[in-house]
Amino acid sequence: MTQSVGANLSCIQHHIHTTALHNQRDPNSIRLLAVTKSQPIALIQQAIDNHQYRFGENYVQEGIAKIQYFKQHVPNSRLEWHFIGALQSNKTRLVAENFDWMQTLHTLKVAHRLAAQRPASLAPLNVLIQINISAEGTKSGIKPSDLLPFARQVVTLSTINLRGIMAIPDPNLDKEQQQHQYSELFALYQRLKVVYAPVDTLSLGMSHDIEAAIAAGSTMLRIGSALFGNRNKTQDSIVRNNE
Ligand SMILES: *Cc1c(COP(=O)(O)O)cnc(C)c1O
Repeated sequence: MTQSVGANLSCIQHHIHTTALHNQRDPNSIRLLAVTKSQPIALIQQAIDNHQYRFGENYVQEGIAKIQYFKQHVPNSRLEWHFIGALQSNKTRLVAENFDWMQTLHTLKVAHRLAAQRPASLAPLNVLIQINISAEGTKSGIKPSDLLPFARQVVTLSTINLRGIMAIPDPNLDKEQQQHQYSELFALYQRLKVVYAPVDTLSLGMSHDIEAAIAAGSTMLRIGSALFGNRNKTQDSIVRNNE
């Protein structure tokens, strides 16, 4: 991609705006999370210069290096860091101590560790429960039917703030399957919202399915390649092997 991050950002924002209106939705009800895994500091800085302050990282160490860098170089910043990768339970402390949001919660063990390790000096850690919407048992996330009992446990933890659900649907669904799964996710989100008032986030939609996600009621899009260009696959795997 030859365009600048600033140009890509305004293009995506415009796309979100028009798609929201087309679906009779308030454009301001949709937050944009810039996914920066394997992207260099310089591109993140370009996004910040264009008033993008919400970032998602998949790998703990890589994310923390960036969080620390911007803490030093953009003091008193409004930056918000979301952990969106698979989290091994031996790395929960790093997430609890450094991130603002954890989007892939799906075990009680990790919930309890995050809660115990969240420093009292920080605001509660915002969490999303990851839902495994595809039928296969291979993907991470809890079954839709387990959501309410799981949430009931999570909300007892005072250093954690349950904000909603997230999902990573199979990118190869046909239109009909996609619509079916996305509306199931929206229904789950609404059910959770009725029970727990602070719930305000359905994290659904990536570069390839922005329109379907907005149509289905997503309130947070996680956008990487449409914003920063294609990730360098070698770089991606170097990062992963070092985690
Ligand atoms: C990488 C990633 C994204 C962004 O994907 P793009 O297709 O680059 O927009 C979103 N969510 C998760 C969980 C990811 O790992």
